[in-house]
Amino acid sequence: MSRFFSAKFDKLVPYTPGEQPRDMKYVKLNTNESPFPPSKTAIENALSAAKKTELYSDPECRALREKLAEYYGVDYEETIVTNGSDEVLNFAFMAFCDKDHPAVFPDITYGFYPVFADLNGVPYEEIPLKDDFTIDVNDYIGISKTIFIANPNAPTGISLPVGEIRKIIESNPDNVVLIDEAYVDFGGESCIPLVREYDNLLVTQTFSKSRSMAGARLGFGIGSKKLIADLHTIRYSTNPYNVNSMTLAQGVGMLEDDEYVQNNCKTVIENRAYTASELSKLGFTMPDSSANFIFAKHNRVSGKDIYLKLKEKGVLVRHFDKPRLTDYNRITIGSLEQMNILIAKLNEILEETK
Ligand code: PMP
Repeated sequence: MSRFFSAKFDKLVPYTPGEQPRDMKYVKLNTNESPFPPSKTAIENALSAAKKTELYSDPECRALREKLAEYYGVDYEETIVTNGSDEVLNFAFMAFCDKDHPAVFPDITYGFYPVFADLNGVPYEEIPLKDDFTIDVNDYIGISKTIFIANPNAPTGISLPVGEIRKIIESNPDNVVLIDEAYVDFGGESCIPLVREYDNLLVTQTFSKSRSMAGARLGFGIGSKKLIADLHTIRYSTNPYNVNSMTLAQGVGMLEDDEYVQNNCKTVIENRAYTASELSKLGFTMPDSSANFIFAKHNRVSGKDIYLKLKEKGVLVRHFDKPRLTDYNRITIGSLEQMNILIAKLNEILEETK
């Protein structure tokens, strides 16, 4: 830390992204990326936008927001697009949290929430999940705090029915409830149809997972016009050109090629069922996942050993060295070929550790 770094960040512990090692070619199952490339139209759109970067990107992000509005059956003014969904999450912490509106989220969830809270000087509370990693909805009834819930949750993959979320939204009418649907396209149920009913609901999603654009950085938020206007106030006060023109054009292409996206999701869901059943045969247990990953623990070998031995063998999964999580690994669902390599390597590890 330099002597110039503001004291307000003294205790800030930055988010640790999943490893992106370059030392060898890994089967990369650690950051929940898509195993599929972007669609043809998406790539063509991005390439043609790359020829015009002498101009700023559209600060309104009009073409993409219009497409999004059409796709999700909402109004243009009910949409915001951002540099990955991490950015809309950060904007939400800036816009809707402070000392009078502290943040609250489960103790086991997306690791960026406490970082955004600390970055923005927002007090927060972490509510423990139940032993089976599910949310006890009663913990969130009438708590009068700004609520962040990833649905499906990460790293567990467990989803909460929309009916349960509805109770949370209704019982906290004076606070924003943000539902982070980064993984919803793999079998979760979206809250987007509820935004017209509740002016305190904000839904965020990403193009990083189901739409194969993790490296292009594109996320979005959908909520009531006033909530979205607040987020635009924050956006125009930080970076009006937060999404570059290649990414905007590529996003439009991915929405146009929706059949391709839906097929990819279907494949991931099939590969998830296959992987879960193979892992069970090997002695792993895991909660039912509605996401593009599985959170699995073995009945004999520790989570850390499995992570390290898989890495030695060229397969990367995500291990969290935290008390309730250390027995587990979060394994991204990739192509069938990648899943078969994972299963073969796990077989070897289990043989070697007998
Ligand atoms: N929410 C959750 C639950 C996530 O796991 C992630 C991905 N790490 C994000 C949001 C952010 O993804 P992105 O910024 O790529 O949209």
